[in-house]
Amino acid sequence: MSERIESPELDPQVERVVHDCRIVIDRDLCVGFGDCIEEAPEAFDLDEDGVAVFTNPEKASRSQVLDACATCPVDAITVYEDGVAIIP
Ligand code: SF4
Repeated sequence: MSERIESPELDPQVERVVHDCRIVIDRDLCVGFGDCIEEAPEAFDLDEDGVAVFTNPEKASRSQVLDACATCPVDAITVYEDGVAIIP
């Protein structure tokens, strides 16, 4: 009998499914300049380490969230739609 491998729990600070997209923040890449927060202040914030986390992305519009993800200067935020990366 093969062993069942559980998929890891999503960390809601760094991965969310919002507006039919899966959005992942790479906290190792984030340099904390806050461009994403300026674009979508309801969706993102910096944590105590100065690294981006999700707050309430559901409250921001889809275009606002996607613009915020696309604005990241170091491509720390990846957006997948239907399993395909659409940002960056
Ligand atoms: S724009 Fe990118 S580098 Fe800047 S805080 Fe957001 S995720 Fe981090």
